[in-house]
Amino acid sequence: MKHEGSCHCGAIRVAMDGDPVDAGECNCSICRRTGALWTYRSPGEVEVTGTGVGYVQGDATLTLWHCGTCGVVTHWTPHDPAYDRMGINLRLFEPALWENLPRRFIDGASW
Ligand SMILES: [Zn+2]
Repeated sequence: MKHEGSCHCGAIRVAMDGDPVDAGECNCSICRRTGALWTYRSPGEVEVTGTGVGYVQGDATLTLWHCGTCGVVTHWTPHDPAYDRMGINLRLFEPALWENLPRRFIDGASW
């Protein structure tokens, strides 16, 4: 099933296939501040509409995207095109899709 979500103001829309089975909660320095809950897809399975603002910390291997208008963190994309995975913030979607999912703790702070 296809799910569609968006940032608060609607400038960025994200559509993805498939139901998430858990919600990743990461304790790294950026995720603990944004409060994002992550699910992952192949970039080919995700459609992002609208242009966000990218943020790269240091030599990080990914770009974290947020809306330049409302500030909501929407997704991250890998820098390595061979890395077939991107992260999507489940909080963009209707709560019924993710609020009762098991939380999967990601110890990003230790990486
Ligand atoms: Zn927005």
